[in-house]
Amino acid sequence: DPLQDSDLRNLAELGMGNGGSVMKVEHVPTGIIMAKKIVLIDAKPSVRKQILRELHIMHSCSSPYIVSSFGAYLAEPNICICMEFMNKGSFESVYKSLGGKNSRGDATPGPIPLGIVRQVAKRVLGGLVYLYEEMGVLHRDIKPSNILLNSQGQVKLCDFGVSGELENSVAKTFVGTSVYMSPERIQGSDYSVKSDVWSLGITLIELAHGCFPFSDTEVDFDDDETNGPGRMNGEMSLDSASLTPASAIPSAHHTRRKSRGVSLHGGVGTLSILELMHHIVREPPPLLITPLIPHSMEFAKPVTEGGAGVGQETAEEARVFVEKCLMKDPAERLSPRELLGTGWMRDGSANREAREGELDLRTWAGALP
Ligand code: ADP
Ligand code: MG
Repeated sequence: DPLQDSDLRNLAELGMGNGGSVMKVEHVPTGIIMAKKIVLIDAKPSVRKQILRELHIMHSCSSPYIVSSFGAYLAEPNICICMEFMNKGSFESVYKSLGGKNSRGDATPGPIPLGIVRQVAKRVLGGLVYLYEEMGVLHRDIKPSNILLNSQGQVKLCDFGVSGELENSVAKTFVGTSVYMSPERIQGSDYSVKSDVWSLGITLIELAHGCFPFSDTEVDFDDDETNGPGRMNGEMSLDSASLTPASAIPSAHHTRRKSRGVSLHGGVGTLSILELMHHIVREPPPLLITPLIPHSMEFAKPVTEGGAGVGQETAEEARVFVEKCLMKDPAERLSPRELLGTGWMRDGSANREAREGELDLRTWAGALP
């Protein structure tokens, strides 16, 4: 039976993004819980049909690292896409509440243990390899909110670029620009699966630091009060910047925000999204900063006295991995397949000790609130 709106009962709102919202729904005839994404589109009927055809590709995806699809349908003026519900939400919401509650009772962000970030990276790479090699599509929107988790510890990608027409027709003010974009994409050059790798590199730093890397607050692992007033995430800057092509912006000043702009780690001041784009193109890429002594219970074994502990080796592998994701020249940047062969991704004998000390995703996910 085709999916239809009248069979779906709204249970909760899961989130709101740039161009749509996502609801937790029950498919009443079957009792299946789904996530329903509602996208307001601005397109002719012929284009709408084309979008539905393109979305059909999602249906044929079958990978443990890709959110499965129940189908898509038109509910004028929206397109609804029903997918597998991931009950632990996205990695954005996960890390944003890892710091516990502050005095006002609000959730605060905190870093995700490096061993968990490692396992997430491995699954995202698996998803990228699948999309690219089996489906012939790039993801195009890798970021923490598009990497989902469930209490079985499964990690899956959603919102990948199966539909070029959908991309073109989404009624949004901010046209296809994201703070996770690679330098070559910002510059309008041809891009490839390496562009998804860049976005993965930025995402992994964000998860491991507990904040977006182009941020005005230094990463400080000893600090309990990780939620300083200046700390922010790339997402928030987007709502302010209703920019279209860069050339349409009269001046950077025009879009500068007083209170909540994206700032750089050096604390140079508030940057508009346009200035951030320039920064990404011109400046050295961000680095993964890992504490010398693991800050959480992720390693069962203590760091040895000489400083050559398991935790440090792993952290060094992680830094190298992220560096390989964030090479500014896409020719030097590794592909998802190549990254899967690097030290940090290997479970082999040389890393056995480190890997055995790692919490597994299922245990970790199960313990999340
Ligand atoms: P964005 O990804 O930019 O945050 P979206 O509209 O794509 O915006 O998604 C909004 C939120 O809905 C996400 O941040 C995520 O937390 C939640 N979400 C999306 N898809 C699912 C899903 N399949 N299961 C559970 N939560 C989801
Ligand atoms: Mg999304």
